[in-house]
Amino acid sequence: RRALGSLGKSRAKFISAEETTGVTFDDFAGQEYIKRELQEIVRILKNDEEFQDKGIYCPKGVLLHGPPGTGKTLLAKAIAGEAGLPFFAANGTDFVEMFVGVAAARVKDLFANARSFAPSIIFIDEIDAIGSKRGGPDIGGGGAEREQGLLQILTEMDGFKESTSQVLVIGATNRLDILDPALLRKGRFDKIIRVGLPSKDGRLAILQVHARNKFFRSEKEKEALLQEIAELTVDFTGAELQNILNEAGILTARKDQDYIGREELLEALKRQKGTFETGQEDSTEIPEELKLRLAYREAAVAVLACYYPDSHHPFIETDIRSIHSKPNMSYAEASGRAFLRKSDHVNSIVRACAPRVIEEEMFGVDNLCWISAKATSEASTRAEFLILQTGMTAFGNAYYRNQSDLVPHLAAKLEALRDEYMRFAVEKCSSVLREYRSAVETITDVLLEKGQIKAEEIWDIYRKAPRIPQPPVRS
Ligand code: ADP
Repeated sequence: RRALGSLGKSRAKFISAEETTGVTFDDFAGQEYIKRELQEIVRILKNDEEFQDKGIYCPKGVLLHGPPGTGKTLLAKAIAGEAGLPFFAANGTDFVEMFVGVAAARVKDLFANARSFAPSIIFIDEIDAIGSKRGGPDIGGGGAEREQGLLQILTEMDGFKESTSQVLVIGATNRLDILDPALLRKGRFDKIIRVGLPSKDGRLAILQVHARNKFFRSEKEKEALLQEIAELTVDFTGAELQNILNEAGILTARKDQDYIGREELLEALKRQKGTFETGQEDSTEIPEELKLRLAYREAAVAVLACYYPDSHHPFIETDIRSIHSKPNMSYAEASGRAFLRKSDHVNSIVRACAPRVIEEEMFGVDNLCWISAKATSEASTRAEFLILQTGMTAFGNAYYRNQSDLVPHLAAKLEALRDEYMRFAVEKCSSVLREYRSAVETITDVLLEKGQIKAEEIWDIYRKAPRIPQPPVRS
């Protein structure tokens, strides 16, 4: 391996224990249960011998999975900081090389380094770049090389002796589905933790963390403003929330003001949204094609809302005056007591598919755009909820807080069942939209002409529209 020279050296960034202590669990907000689980691991890591006497071993690998920007790297650093251990930060892509033997040599080098500083922590971000399923399609080339690298990781992890030098490996990915199952086996990454998008309370807590070093007129005003921003930022990640506060700080400084105010925060929010949505409120400025797509999307959502009426949560109106990745349809505050049967859950999955199904139908599968992008994930999240948390499906009666509670064979079962529900939902949704094609067209026309439409008119069109009978959809 001498011939490899420096090529075979790991490119991992080394951060000493003193430097890592800068980050603690206090820096991560929301999703408290994640902190509790990781705190437990830190306790074991720090008092290795005491726990070993009791027969408790630290997991060798912890896998954090979830969308980018949700704080996975932050958590890994916090573990190192809290435990006061040196930290080696690598990226899965560092190991993907076309040259024979380089990937495996780099992995070896990284683990040898980490062992010489043990107890220590290795963090591999984007571990899917090296750890994707073997024998799958070779996207981007270097497949054989990657396999060598992956095998080397497995060898290294299997090689740790429980009683000697502890090296904790933390991996992060947003593609759990493509990881090689061998990585998830016992004694490797046997602790899987999902880091999801924060809830409203979580968003508030994250904003509070990042507002610590910012100036507001008063504590009370700060509280009220952060609360307002938390409400307006559904589906935002921690990184995006941090950006909003930073941007607001910059806007404030530019105006030579001492304190961040409501105006700067809302402006910063608008800019952050602008990276994904236009935020334009005036329909005259929305390009014609986008307007047409929006109108079809809202019409499809409206027809499905009529087909599966929800008396507990009736719809009010919709418009095409602003562009968001979620439908614009507004709903009345839920009234009375919710009484959800299995069929209600399934219907809600079918409804959630409407934006994607209509866009594909009207504009073609190769011509989809982001205005229906959230629909598919929303539908599959609902399917997962039904399967894991209601005990109403063939999955069984156990309650799982989330996917990460599942052992691999159950995860595979979840995937299969979810796919079945999704297939049915998409088929059923397209069948309804074909049956009510005429209503969809009429509602679309009204939206294009007037910019908005109210529930009453939607119901009227829906009830009067001619229908095209469709064959039944098999569930
Ligand atoms: P990931 O590794 O999941 O892509 P990062 O850890 O790199 O995300 O997140 C980027 C930054 O966003 C963090 O350094 C932190 O400042 C902020 N952030 C993300 N999630 C949170 C959170 N839950 N609490 C506090 N800050 C967060």
